[in-house]
Amino acid sequence: MSGDFRVGHGFDTHRFSDDPDRPLILGGVKFEGAPGLVGHSDGDAVAHAVTDALLSAAGLGDIGVLFPDTDAKWAGADSLGLLADAVARLDEAGWQVVNADCTVVAETPRIAPQRNEMQARLSGVVSAPVTVKGKRAEGLGALGRGEGLACWAVALIERR
Ligand code: MG
Repeated sequence: MSGDFRVGHGFDTHRFSDDPDRPLILGGVKFEGAPGLVGHSDGDAVAHAVTDALLSAAGLGDIGVLFPDTDAKWAGADSLGLLADAVARLDEAGWQVVNADCTVVAETPRIAPQRNEMQARLSGVVSAPVTVKGKRAEGLGALGRGEGLACWAVALIERR
């Protein structure tokens, strides 16, 4: 333990898609029967929020700078791949992840049934515990009307 810790925060939101064939992917896990999210990549707002929290903690920029949605390279990208890329950048810079925690705000779908699978996928990519919880917006605002969903994430990193 070096005792040199940093925290980072990440946020992401995506609108639900009208395309019935677009899958909903959150934390790398497919939610059957739920509308997908509009996005240049796979729209995985949970992976994006965790990626931003990690990059920000290390002072390595943010997802919009490193993986711009104007670059065709990232079209339809598996966002766990973007997360893995961010973890590799942290590793190169001498940082390891201690843990990350996410709150997904969505009227639908329910997060709880897939929570363990999401945590396992994210933790596997990050090589540290990643926890996920779902909250409803109680009918308030755009999230409450079910127009999309949002995710907030915090991450703690430590210099090796
Ligand atoms: Mg995003």
